[in-house]
Amino acid sequence: MNLELGPELIAFRDEVRDFLEDYRDTHGFFHHEGDHHIATLKLHRALGERNWLALAWPTDAGGEGRHPLYEFVLWDEMARYRAARPPLGSGIVAKTIIAAGTQEQKERFLPRLRTAEIAFSLGYSEPEAGSDLAALRTRAVRDGDRYILNGQKRWTSGGHRADYLWVLCRTGEPEARGRALTILIVDMTSPGITVSPIPAVGGERFNEVFFDDVEVPLANRIGEENGGWRLISESLATERHVQFSPARVQQDFAELVSWLKERGLTDDPVVRHRLVDTAVVVAEVEAHALALLEAVQDGRDAAVEAAANKLAGSEAAQAVARVAGDLGAPESVMVGSEIEFLWRQSISETIGGGTSEIMRGVIASQGLGLPIR
Ligand SMILES: Cc1cc2nc3c(=O)[nH]c(=O)nc-3n(C[C@H](O)[C@H](O)[C@H](O)COP(=O)(O)OP(=O)(O)OC[C@H]3O[C@@H](n4cnc5c(N)ncnc54)[C@H](O)[C@@H]3O)c2cc1C
Repeated sequence: MNLELGPELIAFRDEVRDFLEDYRDTHGFFHHEGDHHIATLKLHRALGERNWLALAWPTDAGGEGRHPLYEFVLWDEMARYRAARPPLGSGIVAKTIIAAGTQEQKERFLPRLRTAEIAFSLGYSEPEAGSDLAALRTRAVRDGDRYILNGQKRWTSGGHRADYLWVLCRTGEPEARGRALTILIVDMTSPGITVSPIPAVGGERFNEVFFDDVEVPLANRIGEENGGWRLISESLATERHVQFSPARVQQDFAELVSWLKERGLTDDPVVRHRLVDTAVVVAEVEAHALALLEAVQDGRDAAVEAAANKLAGSEAAQAVARVAGDLGAPESVMVGSEIEFLWRQSISETIGGGTSEIMRGVIASQGLGLPIR
């Protein structure tokens, strides 16, 4: 691996660290509700004032036109400080609008996305369509200059406070699978939308979103009808470098080690053995992140590196939490303790954004050329 941050990126990282000193109390990386949400929004808006939510957008779209590595550095530091995760709006949504939206859509959405004035949630998964997204059934039927939307989304993070939902829906026959899907922007204040909570193990709130004859203006369709699959694949590719930051798991591990030290447990040879093994797993995560960044830097397709990065990072987060659980009793079994929370939170990491099995499938088929059964 030849990746080096270089003096400009190092200077930017230091600038981010200085900036984050004022936001140490945000705690929005793991916690998303109530006061944490308000604090995270404040942080996102402060980023917007610096135009840091649009670091890699082209300048003619209002961005800074910087290399995606700047975004990696920003969100890696955010993860280290446990401050916040990247908003979907200025990432996947904005970049797809820039690539495939109309001039009117760019003018309507981009200025407010860059400043975190509006929030989007992602409406992809459904009860029978998660890993197999091409099986989704939420249907939009064209009626003049609008679509009529019916169906149901599930696991919609942040759906209860989103202004808009970025919905992948069926506009053609089910047999056509991914070739008959379209992206619509749905205004969450539209009549016919119901949002119900689903509590998650890490304390966050998921949602189920129901559409009952919801009217969506044609002007809210992104790209071509039946052209949604290509757009979601491309938008995923532009966001892979911020999908799983190595700093998150490095920070988990650093906190575990200092927690054990404070309790005088690190002289125990069994504890030391476990920590050393886990340190290697954490170092591997950084190696995968660097391989991904190198591919991004070279402008290569990074699907396999991204899958390996996501797999290694999310599995490592669970490995660290497991060690904390094993060595940290009785606190690790007390609901509400920091290390107990670490374990609960890490459970969803291997599912959201694609499960470990799906990541292994990508590595097997695209990386190793093995046939998928
Ligand atoms: C924290 C978090 C946030 C999320 N946020 C959102 C969101 O905002 N919007 C949204 O739309 N969705 C969101 N999701 C949903 C997420 O994308 C899905 O949970 C995920 O894609 C898996 O789909 P599923 O839950 O339907 O499980 P399934 O696809 O039913 O999978 C069940 C099990 O079968 C395995 N499996 C499935 N297919 C294969 C295969 N081909 N090969 C091997 N094993 C397989 C899986 O790995 C898994 O273990 C979120 C999920 C989490 C955990």
